Amino acid sequence: MSDPLWFDPALCLIGGQWTPPASGETLPLINPSDGSTLAQIARGGSADIDAAVRAADAALADDWGRMPAFERGRILTRLGRLVLDRVDDLAALEATDVGKPLTQARADAVALARYCEFYGGAADKVMGETIPYLDGYTVYTLREPHGVTGHIVPWNYPMQIIGRSVGAALTMGNACVLKPAEEACLTALAFAHLAQEAGLPAGALNVVPGLGAEAGAALTAHPGIHHISFTGSVATGSLVQAAAARNVVPVTLELGGKSPQLVFDDADLDAALPFLVNAGCQNAGQTCSASSRILVQRGVYDEVRTRMAAAYADLTVGPAPEDLRLGPLISDRQKTIVEGFLAKGADLTIAAQGVIVDHAPATGAYVRPTLFTDVPPDHPLARDEIFGPVQVLIPFDTEEEAVEIANSTDYGLVASIWTANGARQMRLAKRLRAGQVFINNYGAGGGVELPFGGIGKSGHGREKGFEALYGFSQLKTVAALHG
Ligand code: NDP
Repeated sequence: MSDPLWFDPALCLIGGQWTPPASGETLPLINPSDGSTLAQIARGGSADIDAAVRAADAALADDWGRMPAFERGRILTRLGRLVLDRVDDLAALEATDVGKPLTQARADAVALARYCEFYGGAADKVMGETIPYLDGYTVYTLREPHGVTGHIVPWNYPMQIIGRSVGAALTMGNACVLKPAEEACLTALAFAHLAQEAGLPAGALNVVPGLGAEAGAALTAHPGIHHISFTGSVATGSLVQAAAARNVVPVTLELGGKSPQLVFDDADLDAALPFLVNAGCQNAGQTCSASSRILVQRGVYDEVRTRMAAAYADLTVGPAPEDLRLGPLISDRQKTIVEGFLAKGADLTIAAQGVIVDHAPATGAYVRPTLFTDVPPDHPLARDEIFGPVQVLIPFDTEEEAVEIANSTDYGLVASIWTANGARQMRLAKRLRAGQVFINNYGAGGGVELPFGGIGKSGHGREKGFEALYGFSQLKTVAALHG
């Protein structure tokens, strides 16, 4: 493995040049495994965002805007190859920066490569249509880029979210301005270096790290932005949408959830068990599609609780490089949020907890994974997104009751159904309020090919898969009257 910090993290990428932020200021990047300062990153602000938007605009007027789709595809495919070549370096960066166990960080890097490969191959396969119309007309549609796209990426899965949003936007010929999270931006910077190496023209991708309230707000308010992709909290998402509305700009919002798994009496529990636990605790529960609610039919409720409790005993928590089941949370701030939720559960029964290893530094942001049982569906722990390794078990009697509970939160991102009954599988796949429904699995391995996005407070618009290419482009109708 080469030196993971093979670049200067205190710079922004604007118009193909790595430059210090206009303010000359930096922000400390904290290693959540031990609280130490990892690096100093650029504190980008409105001047840097403005320069980045101008650079993106210039790229569209230059080589990037004229490049044939297959050439864009070649660059993305090359980029995927470079990501794979540096998988271990990228995984080491992400593990240290986000606090992810190395295995998870490596999987994220491989997923980033897959996005580049998938979209690289798709670049020259997005086509318009010819439309039968009145005699004397020929009518067809063109798929064109929005122009300059803004990408605001959170700290939980930087590589995967950059892959799915920036990857798709570049594929359609947009020029991107990326604002990574101030708490985890190293792999965004590494990705931009690799994109340059892959031959991406200057200005097609610009990266401005900084604070959300400064660089992020400047990006969403900038009149030169033509589309915004945001992943993060509901509160910030609605600010982003309001800013975009002032410029009448489309937004894609992915705002997390309270995703349920429904376990029926006839479920194959051996198959379900690993998913029931892992879908809630992967990445220390800091996953937008985390399954934080486990709804179980009464006939198997005790067995599921007992078996999940046993699995929790194996959930060890410790420093990311040790590659245990869970690392720390991203920050002390996130730890405080999760501890606040645990305090709200003081009136509930804890079925099981995981273990923080003895030698975990006291300065790290560690919390014990916690499984609550017999939780009323209207309890805050059963309704609100916690974004930590906390799951609730909720019993139900009938299918009708299960659907009612599952659909009773403001969110609707992901749901899964564990049952052998085929008719029930089909019924519930339609009735559950979620952007993705899984039958006898959870997450389907996270496939880059599968459109992803929410309903209700989980957001709107779809990323991933071919669908994202429609979202990152706009349709033009051409009607020629030739007689
Ligand atoms: P935020 O939604 O505030 O942050 C997400 C991204 O938005 C970051 O890049 C952030 O930058 C940026 N941002 C913050 N404020 C603004 C703004 N005014 N304008 C534009 N961009 C902005 O989430 P937090 O990190 O504060 O986490 C709080 C909670 O949000 C978590 O507990 C969790 O519930 C939820 N969350 C959900 C995620 C998901 O995947 N759905 C991801 C992350 C959080 P910066 O970090 O630099 O401030």
